[in-house]
Amino acid sequence: MTTFKHLGINEKLTNKMKSNGFVTPTPIQEQTIPLILEGKDVIAQSQTGTGKTLAFLLPIVEKINVEESFVQAVIVTPTRELAIQITAELKKIKDDDINVLAIYGGQDVERQIKKLSGGVHIVVATPGRMLDHLRRGTLQLKQVSMFVLDEADQMLHIGFLPDVENILAETGPNRQTMLFSATLSQQVQSLAKRYLTNPVVIKMKTENI
Ligand code: ADP
Ligand code: MG
Repeated sequence: MTTFKHLGINEKLTNKMKSNGFVTPTPIQEQTIPLILEGKDVIAQSQTGTGKTLAFLLPIVEKINVEESFVQAVIVTPTRELAIQITAELKKIKDDDINVLAIYGGQDVERQIKKLSGGVHIVVATPGRMLDHLRRGTLQLKQVSMFVLDEADQMLHIGFLPDVENILAETGPNRQTMLFSATLSQQVQSLAKRYLTNPVVIKMKTENI
């Protein structure tokens, strides 16, 4: 039986997962975690509810350098609910010295700005509010080394393509890019083609339920 440790996740993080009741990686986690740890760009397609969130969160947490105080990882997700959910999962597994900020509309901007100036390692955001910070100059993405497009099909369906492209334009050359989606439409594939470098494509079979 494969464990998170077999996939390259450190013992401490594996134990955190265990204490949350997660012992066996889901198939999409098993396929993607080693590739992300290796630094590969990844296109991952797997149906809703198959554990895509931890598939990118675990290797991100593993690779954050807490000695550096700039934003190293960005997760862009289509809705406020998803941003809250991802942040909650992240807080369950990360150490206290990793600083995380959720950025979405309807929240106090000043509070977000204050948090950002204090040094944030991982940002989980919806596109609109993130662009707002980029335009104000309160968030810099030039040093981002890990960039996740979560639920890419939903993101494009809502009409966030221009916002996502404007965000990607603010990132630097150091970017490892990961695209996660329940489906890979033509539009999603075209986005991936433009912004991912030699991506490994992982497609999980859809189970009949
Ligand atoms: P998706 O993004 O693919 O729709 P989520 O990442 O939201 O799926 O995960 C769906 C549910 O599965 C969540 O409640 C999550 O906590 C749970 N889950 C994730 N990984 C595991 C695992 N390895 N073992 C058991 N449950 C898991
Ligand atoms: Mg998801």
